[in-house]
Amino acid sequence: MVNPYSWLEKSLATLHRADWYRSVKTLEGRGGAVINLNGQSLINFASNDYLGLAGDQRLIDAAIIALETYGAGSTGSRLLSGHRDLHRALEIALATLKQTEDALVFSSGYLANLGTITALVNPKDLILSDQYNHSSLKNGAKLSGAKVLEYAHSDTEDLANHLRKCRSHYRRCLIITDTVFSMDGDLCPLPEILALANTFDCMVLVDEAHATGVLGATGAGCVEHFHCTQQPLIQVGTLSKALGSLGGYVAGSAALIDFLRNRAATWIYTTGLSPADTASALQAIEIINQEPQRRQQLWDNINILSKYLTNKNPLSSASAIFCLPLASPQEALEKSAQLQAQGIFCPAIRPPTVPTSRLRFSLMATHGSGHVEKLIETLAEVS
Ligand code: PMP
Repeated sequence: MVNPYSWLEKSLATLHRADWYRSVKTLEGRGGAVINLNGQSLINFASNDYLGLAGDQRLIDAAIIALETYGAGSTGSRLLSGHRDLHRALEIALATLKQTEDALVFSSGYLANLGTITALVNPKDLILSDQYNHSSLKNGAKLSGAKVLEYAHSDTEDLANHLRKCRSHYRRCLIITDTVFSMDGDLCPLPEILALANTFDCMVLVDEAHATGVLGATGAGCVEHFHCTQQPLIQVGTLSKALGSLGGYVAGSAALIDFLRNRAATWIYTTGLSPADTASALQAIEIINQEPQRRQQLWDNINILSKYLTNKNPLSSASAIFCLPLASPQEALEKSAQLQAQGIFCPAIRPPTVPTSRLRFSLMATHGSGHVEKLIETLAEVS
C-alpha cells in the first residue's frame, strides 16, 4: 500500500544530515536573565525579553486581575463578539508611545504583518522587500499576490534601481523592512528609505519588533531613534519582546487603522487577544514610560559587550542583538553546546532561517554586569 506520508521521514532525515534539524528545550520555572534547563542554571542570552518584563511581578499581577475580571478568553473576534475596555486602552497606549493617530492590536506580530500587507496591496501592486526581512514580512508579501522584488540588504542604491526600473508599471508600491534585523541586529537605513518612498510615491511598512522599548529617546523604537516619527509610515510591532507579553500591533494614521479594522483578515477573522495578555502589555507600556532606567541598563550592557566584540570582530552594537558568524551549521551547534556546558544559553541560528550560520546573543536590562562579563570570558575560552 502506498503511504502518502512516507516523504515526511525522508525529509526529516535530510534535515538531520544537513545539521538543520531543530528541537525545543524545556525550561523550568519563570524566565529571566538566568534560567534552569535540566537542573542546570544558565545565563540566558536567548530571550527577546529585552527589558526583563516577562517575569515582572507587575505584569503578572495585571494579568491575574484581568483574568479574574474578564475571564480567560475573549470568546470571539472583536467585530462580532465585542471587545473590552482593556483592548482599546492598549491601542491608545501604543498610539501614544508611537506618537501616531491610532493603533490596532492583533493576536501576534506575525499576524499583524500578514494582515496589514495583504490588506494594503494586491496583484496590481509592487512590494520592495529587504532580503533579510523577517518571515512574517516575506510571507505577508507572498500572500498579498503583489509583485515582490527583494533588494540587497539595506542597500538603498539597489532599492532605488528597482524603483526607477519598475515603479511606473504598478499601481501602489509598498516598501517593507525590519527596522532592527532580527538575526543580525543592525538597523535599516530608514531616513534614506523614506526619502526614496517620497520620490517614488511609495508606502513604507516598518517592523519594529526588536526596536520597540529598546531604541529611541522614549523607547518608541527605531522610527524615533531616526527622528522619523512625524513621517507617513506604517509601524508594525509585537507585544512579545520588550513588552514581555503576547500579541502584535500596527500603529499609524487613523485612516489606516480604520481601513485595517475593515480589511485585515488576520484581525477580522480571529479571536481577540486574551484579557491577560492585553493587561500585561498595557502594564509593560506604563513601565516603559515610567522607568527609562531599564532601557539605560540594557544599553549599559549593550555597550559592555560591544566594546569587547568590536576588538574581536566587526559586530553590530546598534541594538540588543549580537551575532557571532560561524562557518557551518555544525560549528554553530558545537559552539552553542560548548557555551551551554560553561553556563551560557544562546541559540545556534542556521539555514534556512538565515543564509549563514551564527550564534545569536540577545541582551536584557536584567542581566547583571557579571552576566555579560561571564559571556565575554567564556567566548574568549571557546573561540
Ligand atoms: N517581526 C520580527 C522582526 C520578529 O522577529 C518576530 C518574532 N520573532 C515577529 C515579527 C513576529 O512577532 P510575534 O512573535 O509577535 O508573532
